[in-house]
Amino acid sequence: MTEPRIEVDLDAFRHNVRLLSSIAAPARTMLAVKANAYGHGLLPLARAALESGADSLAVLDVPAGLELRAAGFDVQIFAWMHGPHTDFACAIRESIDLGISALWQLDAIIAAGEPARARVHLKIDTGLHRNGASIEEWPSLVSAAVAAERAGVLTIVGIWSHLADASPEDDADALERLHTAIKVAHDLGATPTTLHLAASSAGIREPEARLDLVRFGIAAYGISPFDDESAADLGLIPVMTFRAPVVSVDAGTATISVGSADGIHVGPSHIAEVAIGGERYRISSVGVDSLTIDVGDALVSVGDSVTIFGTGDDGAMTAEEWAVRTGTIGDEIVVRASRRIPRTYLGER
Ligand SMILES: *Cc1c(COP(=O)(O)O)cnc(C)c1O
Repeated sequence: MTEPRIEVDLDAFRHNVRLLSSIAAPARTMLAVKANAYGHGLLPLARAALESGADSLAVLDVPAGLELRAAGFDVQIFAWMHGPHTDFACAIRESIDLGISALWQLDAIIAAGEPARARVHLKIDTGLHRNGASIEEWPSLVSAAVAAERAGVLTIVGIWSHLADASPEDDADALERLHTAIKVAHDLGATPTTLHLAASSAGIREPEARLDLVRFGIAAYGISPFDDESAADLGLIPVMTFRAPVVSVDAGTATISVGSADGIHVGPSHIAEVAIGGERYRISSVGVDSLTIDVGDALVSVGDSVTIFGTGDDGAMTAEEWAVRTGTIGDEIVVRASRRIPRTYLGER
């Protein structure tokens, strides 16, 4: 091979989405494609998700939702992180479903003055403390939304929250808080049709948390959300493979031209390994734009393909293994993979 590249196996991704949506059914599957589809590439992954069992997409913010609309996606798109500069008018015109955590967001929707009704999902904080209305704020948020609904400004499509995934007990508490909030909302006149809470972890393991819809993310990319079960244990296939060619070989050391600037971090212990020709070799150092590999007296030549992480099929570590060895989570390994490295899509239709 001649240049570093990231291979994205769309068939593996479709397999994972099919598997997860069959686990979630009869709950619907919304696929999280935030962070450039966890580093894999927004548009091809969004398309593949909808080809294989997902019926809606979750992005972080309105601009990412608008990018999907501009590319022709006409399915339900959910965005929940809004700042003071969020263009709510455009979001309403483009029919982006909006997660709503605070009164000021409702005020901004009303102030947008769009003729179409905004589609909102009211968020209750069930313990994650990242955003969402507190139990104290909840009745006033719901009442304001109900008033705006009666005024024809918006439709309360959903009520939702997000789990910390800290422990099954915490998740059970969060589910109970969500049900309490739903009851309060009903009593205040809200009639949401879509209740949602679970992401990958609870979507797989906690049937009672699936409600109407599961927002699957990391598991669809072939990375387990659990410490005690791998993707392989779950029947999931890693989607991303990061490869680079050997650019020089010198005194038992091979070098590749990707490094920390491309998202490769080995942590202080340098115990990650890469694979060349099916054999694993220790990384001896990582620079900003290069990485050296201790190959000893193995027959390694310039141009040989080095797999940094991948599916595990060619002997290389998976992103999950990298994460364990370098003290992080698999999500970090794939989202860090630099946009500078071209993505090659396998299985494109
Ligand atoms: C990231 C995210 C998801 C997906 O989470 P995973 O754990 O990756 O499955 C779902 N919902 C929200 C609100 C998120 O931020």
